[in-house]
Amino acid sequence: MLVAIVDISKCTGCETCVNECPASAIVVENEKAKVDKEMCVDCQTCVDICPSEAIVVE
Ligand code: SF4
Ligand code: SF4
Repeated sequence: MLVAIVDISKCTGCETCVNECPASAIVVENEKAKVDKEMCVDCQTCVDICPSEAIVVE
């Protein structure tokens, strides 16, 4: 199964993805997004809405 991967060098900790993830699979810790791989449903919403293009699904 594919999961969202955060490039922490690009992530600004804006929390846009936290608020938009339908599975509540993302948290921001120390200003970097972190995806719970068990909860991610591979919808790619976060990939589309991240203003920093910091998330890919692979
Ligand atoms: S939307 Fe992008 S920049 Fe903002 S917290 Fe999520 S991964 Fe980081
Ligand atoms: S791919 Fe969808 S379910 Fe997975 S972290 Fe991104 S928004 Fe959440």
